[in-house]
Amino acid sequence: MSLTTVLLRPGEADRIVAGHLWIYEGAILRLTGPANDGDLVQIKDHRQRLLGIGFYNSKSKIRVRVIDSERTDIDVLFFEERLRSALAVRQRHMPTASSFRVVNAESDLLTGLILDKYEDVFVMQISSLGMEKRKHHIVEAIKRVFSPRAIVERSESSFRKFEGMEESNGVIHGTIEGPVGIKLNGLKFDVDIAGGHKTGLYLDQQVNYQKVANLVRKGDTVLDCFSFLGGFSLHAARAGAKNVVGVDQSADATGFAAANAKANKLDSQCTFETANAFDWLKARTHTGPHEKLIPQFDVVVLDPPSFTRTRSAVEGAMRGYKEIHVRGLKLLKPGGVLATFCCSHHVGTQLFLDSVLSAAFDQRKLLRRVDIYAQSPDHPVLPSMPETEYLKGFAFELMR
Ligand code: SAH
Repeated sequence: MSLTTVLLRPGEADRIVAGHLWIYEGAILRLTGPANDGDLVQIKDHRQRLLGIGFYNSKSKIRVRVIDSERTDIDVLFFEERLRSALAVRQRHMPTASSFRVVNAESDLLTGLILDKYEDVFVMQISSLGMEKRKHHIVEAIKRVFSPRAIVERSESSFRKFEGMEESNGVIHGTIEGPVGIKLNGLKFDVDIAGGHKTGLYLDQQVNYQKVANLVRKGDTVLDCFSFLGGFSLHAARAGAKNVVGVDQSADATGFAAANAKANKLDSQCTFETANAFDWLKARTHTGPHEKLIPQFDVVVLDPPSFTRTRSAVEGAMRGYKEIHVRGLKLLKPGGVLATFCCSHHVGTQLFLDSVLSAAFDQRKLLRRVDIYAQSPDHPVLPSMPETEYLKGFAFELMR
């Protein structure tokens, strides 16, 4: 196998040796020959020591995406082995799960590839040109490892444009009709995978659904803001909550959530309202001049979408987090639990915690931290690559 070599500038090798998998334009000294976009190249330091191999793309700011530390063929067998080892990680850390993220891109040494398992239906998302060019190998490997009922591609990620690629969607193997029924922690969820909305589901909270539910007591009243398909709501209801209110601005989401509640015979405990959560919280926390707000909820869950996808928008995002924290705390009974999440990579744990603390300060409330959350183990984090970590959360008890 003859591969064009990408030589790194002095000082740029350590980052790669330490386990980062992205090589930016500025780190590259030169190429020893021509390379087409999507080609496999070998990466060497300026002293010609081999650092690994990766996918080259001149159109991307990430010029090379490392795929292995040694020279190896990237064929069906390669993908089959990577899939099997990724699967083993999930089986070890989430032994009872039947739906989960099988491949989480860089965290599974498969840069630009995401593969979600919804029981026997697999959803693939490709965001690097190197992977795109090897899609046939990937599909074949998925078939060999999982014998799936269907493989669906949903490569509509905004990242594709950074690699000079168009969107690509559709069923590429097998057939599916209607929503796919899956189980999370023993609860049934219908997921619209190939239908009009292609919502999928946020598998990264699977472990946290149960952890938060463990804080719910029998008879509790629970608010689940940004409830989507009702993940937190249904788990809270099963844990014995008497009254769960889910709020989401998408009518499709609240429709699915209500149907999911019904399918689990939890509909008498759950209601889902279609509303902007900011407006909803504002209306519920509004008080007249001589009125005092009487908090109604034993548990408040806040799991908003990422308020910022870029570093520059962090300030605006922080205003959003602060507002929902202030209003969420106002609705919480003393002794109640606030479970709050942040899925923006650009908002770090400390900054997020600051937002909660500043909301508590404004209202002279005191919190006791009772749990710390991260993305479920099927979305592993590589500490050598901070970009792989995004989801953080806390549970607090309102002391006064
Ligand atoms: N808690 C959910 C994930 C939430 S994802 C789960 O565990 O699956 C974010 C959700 O917030 C989406 O369903 C989206 O429709 C909803 N959303 C986004 N902005 C919103 C807003 N301003 N008000 C209410 N819902 C909103």
